[in-house]
Amino acid sequence: MNKSAKFVICLSLLTAIPALANAQDTGYPRILIPTSEESYTYSADYQIPWDQIEIMVTEHMSPNLYTLHGSPGLDRGHPDASGGRAMVLFGPDGVLLVDTQNRQVADKTLAAIRTFTDGPIRVLVNSHVHSDHAGANAFFGKQGALIFAQENLQLDLINPRADGRPAQEQDPDGFPVVTYRYDPAKAGEPAVTLTMNGEIVDFIPMMPSHTAGDTVVRFRNANVVYIEDFYRNFGYPFAAQTSGGSIEGMIEAIDLLQTIAGPDTWLIPGHGTLIRREDLLPYRAMLVDIWDQVSQLRGAGKSLAEVLAANLTAPYDATTEGDTEDSKERFITAVYDEVQDFPPVINGRRTMPRR
Ligand SMILES: [Zn+2]
Repeated sequence: MNKSAKFVICLSLLTAIPALANAQDTGYPRILIPTSEESYTYSADYQIPWDQIEIMVTEHMSPNLYTLHGSPGLDRGHPDASGGRAMVLFGPDGVLLVDTQNRQVADKTLAAIRTFTDGPIRVLVNSHVHSDHAGANAFFGKQGALIFAQENLQLDLINPRADGRPAQEQDPDGFPVVTYRYDPAKAGEPAVTLTMNGEIVDFIPMMPSHTAGDTVVRFRNANVVYIEDFYRNFGYPFAAQTSGGSIEGMIEAIDLLQTIAGPDTWLIPGHGTLIRREDLLPYRAMLVDIWDQVSQLRGAGKSLAEVLAANLTAPYDATTEGDTEDSKERFITAVYDEVQDFPPVINGRRTMPRR
């Protein structure tokens, strides 16, 4: 190599370095469709009109990492935006999908992906078992996706339920085939790392928190972590205890996120708006406060009805979007059931008291 060629290479490196250093300042995330923060009311017999729900590209997190979310106002469980947010990493290596949206809108989810990539659907990771996140597993399995998840999620997904209802997923094309476990000695370490489309993607198994099969997904170059549902900023916290979830585990999950994410990392909840690591802290403080109060009241012999009547969430109502009676009652009941005689996780589930 002659001298002038060396000089050209050095010069191009010099100009490339500032561009890389500023990668976080280049206008990401781009919020295309803001999540609704309106409140909506529904009749008791409301049925979700699936045919009216659209799946849209709502945020760009990097040039090739997009999020998908559904229409606002139509999904009673998720009025801010229907279903659970999904993420799509795309490029020459094909598509990596985090969560699937609901089964009923699977064709619309695929159509939304096809507006920006023709690549093959190669990898799907399930953040947790709920049907707004894993409901279209079989659909995307048939598209060719290899499905990754915690073993607890697989067990919860494919086995008949304790009340005699059939398994959530009965089509083997929808079964996770690459499974891993949460190991407390390796908390925060990825169980799987994939290099695809210029990204390094970590699947990090979480302790029993929103469910016993949670995975958060970190995109190292985009500096983004999909944190699924142990945090939410629409409605009160939800630990799905029958699927092994735990309020105490949600507090632990928040603490672990302080090490998984940096101060400038964008965190993508399954519902609600995008946040930073520090936004988890007031939520943690609320969980601890409610835990302590419910624990004291139950320890003093108060019934669930008495604890609900104490309206412990009142100080938080003004700052909690979507704070419905249902969401408050579900939260306080979960804490009440957890502070004493909390059943263990067996095969991804807990046998909770029927109410
Ligand atoms: Zn969700």
